[in-house]
Amino acid sequence: PPVAIVCVGMAGSGKTTFMQRINAHLHSAHTSSPATTAPPYVLNLDPAVRSVPFDPNIDIRDSVNYKEVMKQYNLGPNGGILTSLNLFATKIDQVLGILEKRCLPKPPPPQQAQPAPATEEKQTQVPSYILVDTPGQIEVFVWSASGEILLSSFASTFPTVLAYIIDTPRSTENTSTFMSNMLYAISILYKTKLPMILVFNKTDVKAETEAVEWMRDFESFQAALRNDEQREQAGGEGGGGYMGSLLNSMSLVLEEFYNALSVVGVSSMTGEGVEGFFEAVEGKRGEFEREYRPELERRV
Ligand code: GDP
Ligand code: MG
Repeated sequence: PPVAIVCVGMAGSGKTTFMQRINAHLHSAHTSSPATTAPPYVLNLDPAVRSVPFDPNIDIRDSVNYKEVMKQYNLGPNGGILTSLNLFATKIDQVLGILEKRCLPKPPPPQQAQPAPATEEKQTQVPSYILVDTPGQIEVFVWSASGEILLSSFASTFPTVLAYIIDTPRSTENTSTFMSNMLYAISILYKTKLPMILVFNKTDVKAETEAVEWMRDFESFQAALRNDEQREQAGGEGGGGYMGSLLNSMSLVLEEFYNALSVVGVSSMTGEGVEGFFEAVEGKRGEFEREYRPELERRV
């Protein structure tokens, strides 16, 4: 079965642009070798997005009208998105029905059946991947009951991998921004118990090298930390001692987490690094089958 790739990340990290990029990548792979590579099956779960730069097979906006939901229930934007997601989650059995029909291999036809014509064979090709885009505001999906229902439904039917998209230039501005982004990723990892790939996006603006070094090498992170502290003190802010020592001890704790992840650098703008991303996905597919599926089955 295809791997479901669920894109999560802070608002503006580039989830939708990344979706567009990997979708285009898979479509062009299909065009150049139609027999061996199928196109993806694409879901948009962001009810509030104005225009989607890819062509989703399932779009939450077809079943809930976010603006109407806001009006009808007298909600602000976040409440509107959450309620829309809740309404959509009540139809998860229908969604799963469609996914199973479209994305799982068909059982072999009975022997007396006529051989299917070539055109029909093409249509029954199983998608290469299932791509899922989520609402801009990460907490609405990751910390809500409906987000959990949707995620665990995908994971019970398909190997499921989280792509945690990070705005590289912004998250490496300073050590505390970097660390808070990493802590967010960890909490999602522990909550969902799904394999995760850290996608350092926007490498056309800033390469992922520094971020990866901070992750892999405790000393280099400490050096960056000292730098930030000195800068802060010079700027008259002072009192960086508490934050510094907190970050310092966290970076030790985080080493273990870093080892559990795959890390890739990507530019959704130029397409650089997309192949590396799919290699990481294939690695995580194996991990899902070996480590996550048995755990999921234990939980049901
Ligand atoms: P989302 O809220 O996570 O879905 O983020 P979007 O995909 O809407 O992207 C937010 C902004 O980042 C947009 O202005 C994109 O054009 C920009 N962006 C996304 N990916 C890249 C990238 O790889 N490089 C650059 N330079 N900008 C990007
Ligand atoms: Mg988006």
